[in-house]
Amino acid sequence: MAQRLDGRQLAAALEERLERVVAERLAQAGRPPGLAVLRVGDDPASGVYVANKEKACSRIGITNLGAHLPAETPAAEVLSTIQRLNADPAVDGILLQLPLPDGLDEGPLLAAIDPEKDADGLHTLNLGRLLKGEPGPRSCTPAGVMALLAAGGVELSGKRAVVVGRSILVGQPMALMLQAANATVSIGHSRTKDLAELTRQADVLVVAAGRPRMIGAEHVKPGAVVVDVGIHRLPSEPGAKAKLCGDVRFEEVEPIASAITPVPGGVGPMTVTLLLVNTVASWCQRCGLDQPLADLLP
Ligand code: NDP
Repeated sequence: MAQRLDGRQLAAALEERLERVVAERLAQAGRPPGLAVLRVGDDPASGVYVANKEKACSRIGITNLGAHLPAETPAAEVLSTIQRLNADPAVDGILLQLPLPDGLDEGPLLAAIDPEKDADGLHTLNLGRLLKGEPGPRSCTPAGVMALLAAGGVELSGKRAVVVGRSILVGQPMALMLQAANATVSIGHSRTKDLAELTRQADVLVVAAGRPRMIGAEHVKPGAVVVDVGIHRLPSEPGAKAKLCGDVRFEEVEPIASAITPVPGGVGPMTVTLLLVNTVASWCQRCGLDQPLADLLP
């Protein structure tokens, strides 16, 4: 039976640590940390994600300084909102919730976020810092995966890691972080010829393809560590609670893996926690408090 890499449990433990750091440093900082989640339009899934992030902020003492703009807001107005948040000294982190409504181009808006307040770690400068191994806010989902692996005692140095997916949001930064931890990394994508042949080489397999239940036992080497980033809502009866699944066929893979993340309760909660970590780390830095990022992570 594989070890469960339990994201809910780890997220709760890290939140406790963050709450303590915020409470202990509040007087010295003179103000609480502030996160602005900027939502444009009414995408229903985004509504749930934003509410989760806001609840997590309030649990640990981060002030929610976000804004919700109507779907028809012109790009110039979204841009000026970002600029106002950049200039606001009470804001330590800014997150532009994606997807944006049709007609709004996310590229220039994401680029307008002050890189020092980039709570999502997706600004070009911060992706460059990751590439160069320089400090800076890291992309939340892959950094959350790294925290789960560290807490689970998964050794990465010298191991063969395979990442399925090469998006800027997950796959690419994931591969860079695994490489920085001295794994030997390959990336599979939609044009990879024989995906199962590649993934079977993995000691650590991270799947972020966005394809429900695509990875089965035939893709996994016995004893591998399997991290499932995918998250999908399965069709359900009207009124019933939506069921979720990942990119991995959990019931097939769990018996042969040495460790595995569940969906839900694996990577998802860690993504929100790393958003909090980035915000608290930025707060400490902006308020001149000494708080090594390593203390906030396992
Ligand atoms: P994208 O759609 O941006 O990227 C998917 C990647 O997977 C692409 O690189 C694509 O290849 C590759 N891919 C697609 N199909 C296949 C296939 N059949 N074989 C091999 N590779 C394939 O998705 P994201 O990276 O944004 O997200 C991936 C998943 O992670 C989604 O399910 C998303 O919901 C989930 N997610 C979960 C989060 C969490 O907190 N748990 C946070 C963020 C995302 P190519 O480049 O060739 O097109």
